[in-house]
Amino acid sequence: MNHTGIVWSDVFLQHDTGPHHPERAERLQSIHDRLASTGLLTRCRVITPEPVDLSLVERVHAGEYIGRFQEACEQGRHSIDTSDCAICPISFDAARLAAGAVVAAVDQVMAGRCVNAFCPVRPPGHHAEYRAAMGFCFFNNIAIGAEYLRVRYGLQRLVILDWDVHHGNGTQHHFEADPDLLFISLHQHPYTLFPGTGFAQETGVGDGVNATMNIPLMPGSSDDEYREAFDLQVLPAISKFKPEFILVSTGFDAHVCDPLAQINLQTESFAWMTRETRALAESLCGGRLVTVVEGGYHLEALADCTQAHVEALGGKG
Ligand SMILES: [Zn+2]
Repeated sequence: MNHTGIVWSDVFLQHDTGPHHPERAERLQSIHDRLASTGLLTRCRVITPEPVDLSLVERVHAGEYIGRFQEACEQGRHSIDTSDCAICPISFDAARLAAGAVVAAVDQVMAGRCVNAFCPVRPPGHHAEYRAAMGFCFFNNIAIGAEYLRVRYGLQRLVILDWDVHHGNGTQHHFEADPDLLFISLHQHPYTLFPGTGFAQETGVGDGVNATMNIPLMPGSSDDEYREAFDLQVLPAISKFKPEFILVSTGFDAHVCDPLAQINLQTESFAWMTRETRALAESLCGGRLVTVVEGGYHLEALADCTQAHVEALGGKG
């Protein structure tokens, strides 16, 4: 058995956002090239995704929005909802496949064919809202994966940990009234970065109060601040929650080289965050862990971080 799965499709490269867009195909090409050149791809279990069933997408997004997104792609429009959500004729298919990648990863882990799995996908998902595309995101891939764990496998207690440098607003809003899904987001402080939400006092609503944890970090924060947040907040909260499965929105844009934000993590930080999370999954839920790429816009740093992440998941050796 290969310890770690990697979900891959060339279709992720065909989502064309036009020239000069930071969320571009070269990001995933850079990830793929590094996984291939280091031999990680051959040492992991490569998983081929299927397009996600739209009935599953409808658990996370309004039917009206799904139809509107499909139509906009078919009509050859260049963006939807905001100018940064650039699309091309195959973007709808790529988005279905990106969400399908998380579903495929979940299936492989639940079947015991791998212990954990990594989903390098685009378009990303964590900003996508119930009825709107936002921040380069169209379908909330990780939220769809969590819903799938519920409907297909009957799992209830889930954790989504989001260490992308931007707040995972779409994920939070989808689950904020849900006491059985603990959402934890570490991100650059909303006063200083898109999307402007994710304050520490946002802790959930209704029955979901205390199942949302936002950890905003000031620009310039680095390894020390992240380690402190992990040791004092993230790890104890997950341990106490006792999840049946852990999902991670692994943006790599908190890296010091990233052009879109001002957090200064080194590549090694992504390795230790992954190791800590993997260890927790192993002690709490049989190692069941699926990680999903969100942001990361410096191509070399993205490749470095991905390599460190997959090695830490257990793909090495
Ligand atoms: Zn981001």
